[in-house]
Amino acid sequence: MHKFFNYTTAASVLVLASATFSFAETTYNTANTISLDVDHADSFQHFAPELPQMRARAATINTEFGLHVSEIEPGLFFVTDLIYQSAFVVTDDGIVVLDAPPSFGANLRNVIAMTAPDAEITHLIMSHGHRDHNGGSHLFADIPELEIVAAAQVAETLEEFPLEGVLAPTQIFDSTLDLTVGGIEFQLQTANFHAEDADVMIYLPDQKFLMAIDTVTPGEAPFMNFGATTNVNAYFETFATFLEYDFDHFLSGHVSVLGNRQDVVTARDYAFDVRNTVYGLMPGFNDRMMEGLEAVEFQNANLAYRVAMEGIRDDCAEQIISRWKNKLSVVDLWADSHCETTLVYAVMH
Ligand SMILES: [Zn+2]
Repeated sequence: MHKFFNYTTAASVLVLASATFSFAETTYNTANTISLDVDHADSFQHFAPELPQMRARAATINTEFGLHVSEIEPGLFFVTDLIYQSAFVVTDDGIVVLDAPPSFGANLRNVIAMTAPDAEITHLIMSHGHRDHNGGSHLFADIPELEIVAAAQVAETLEEFPLEGVLAPTQIFDSTLDLTVGGIEFQLQTANFHAEDADVMIYLPDQKFLMAIDTVTPGEAPFMNFGATTNVNAYFETFATFLEYDFDHFLSGHVSVLGNRQDVVTARDYAFDVRNTVYGLMPGFNDRMMEGLEAVEFQNANLAYRVAMEGIRDDCAEQIISRWKNKLSVVDLWADSHCETTLVYAVMH
């Protein structure tokens, strides 16, 4: 058994104990605590390193640009600072930029200028309005007649709650928009797998390129709480939507690796394994709750509820880690959050 789960089980016992014994002597405990102290029962050293097959795919920074830049299809450039991702397309009628993360700083603009010195930037298409993916758009503000394309819901959100560095859209659409720039087709379609207002899937059919941000992390388990989704059910359903597209490249906004079709299939299988595992454990919820209630002599129902939730979460995470630890990196870091996200959804629906 992984030491992490010994600890969380111990934490549950400790919480139960704190109800019985003097509160003043209790150190507050929350689950999911990672200690940087190597001697701690929940030391960071108990977590597995990244898998070699993932490390082998990692992109490297081109020091001339300060970013990794690669031409993945003629005229279509993939860009990453190894944490965030974006892309740009050089067409005969100008350049189309797909997201401008603030972590790139001015480097994205510099890279574009070095790649296509005589071409003008005509469009910036925003996958969604979050600052961490488009807060670098202000660096394009001086470009005359730049079209900033985004979903109408994103424009509304930004009008009400402007975000630092995120330019206001100039061209908005409700659910779909087909753009052709210099003979290159861009098919935009809104979805709701991540952001609270709208996400946009950006598809270039001739390049077999699909961009959907904050979803899949190629080679890794999804980020905490399934990419911090605001819509759990839509997150699960989105994989089928992605796979309806004919694509070879999948740009998902994070890690240094550009994804492919297999990465989306793997992420779908992982997510549904979590879902099936949680739902498989749900019939035991009441028994776990009753066990907690009895332990606190029916004096603290919230505590019993938490014990039931933690029990299912931890049993789920243990199963998920054992099945996925050799297939995806950092499963042991995030599996409990995926199980918990699914569990919270399951108890409400
Ligand atoms: Zn986001």
